[in-house]
Amino acid sequence: MKQLHRITRTDESHWVGDGFPVRTLFSYNTPDAEMSPFLMLDYAGPMEFPPASKPRGVGMHPHRGFETVTILYRGEVEHRDTVGHGGMIGPGDVQWMTAAKGLLHEEMHSAAFTRQGGVFEAIQLWVNLPAEYKMIAPHYQSILNDRIPVQKLDRQGGFIRIIAGEYQGIKGPASTYTLINLWDLRLSEGHTLELDFPENHTTMLFALKGSVKINNASTLNDVELAFFEQAGTKVTLTALKDTTLLVMNGAAINEPIAGYGPFVMNTQEEIQLAIKDFNAGHFG
Ligand code: MN
Repeated sequence: MKQLHRITRTDESHWVGDGFPVRTLFSYNTPDAEMSPFLMLDYAGPMEFPPASKPRGVGMHPHRGFETVTILYRGEVEHRDTVGHGGMIGPGDVQWMTAAKGLLHEEMHSAAFTRQGGVFEAIQLWVNLPAEYKMIAPHYQSILNDRIPVQKLDRQGGFIRIIAGEYQGIKGPASTYTLINLWDLRLSEGHTLELDFPENHTTMLFALKGSVKINNASTLNDVELAFFEQAGTKVTLTALKDTTLLVMNGAAINEPIAGYGPFVMNTQEEIQLAIKDFNAGHFG
């Protein structure tokens, strides 16, 4: 059995721009937890936005050294960057952006969502890159809902959407630089599911809503994050309510982390260079 390390939550909320009211569940500064290859998880919303004329969001800002993975649950986001990419993601869609050597981008509510208003709910997960890929050219994977395989669970127990990695032989569409399993799991009240992970992988579960019993012992409630020990492979979940979980699992990257806001590199010298490059306009 894979033992639970601890459960954490935060009730502190802050705005990213004027479009994303987020709670940060972990970051690369969080002590006493193995989270590599993941760097940060922001949970935006759920929040009801009234109709508006001017799109809310966050204007042009840089990233370097890692990937941002945006998972939309409700609402719609339009993005645009200085490398010439742009696009829109809606409910069920995922944008996997490999910022790598750097770009500037903006993330805004879509024109239609702005006009109509509605509930916004999304996750942004930051995924670290091994040193050898931190300075490759930036690129995107726009992974729309209909490309994400869905495995139904037995006896109407819910379903699992495989965004990255593999679940029972079904492969997710995301291409990753390290071994990563990223699954959107919906477990129906009263149902039990046993998950099997590779030995010695980092594993975290985030509950967007609902409540699950972990390994017949601890309870993970909504807006809580569970960290597991690296050792062991099997985790048993029993849903006490209909529950939506993000399952994050991956091989730790055993390299030093030097971070400064939207730049995550291996050394302070590389951070200084990122700041210098940004100030010199090299991000576009
Ligand atoms: Mn961003």
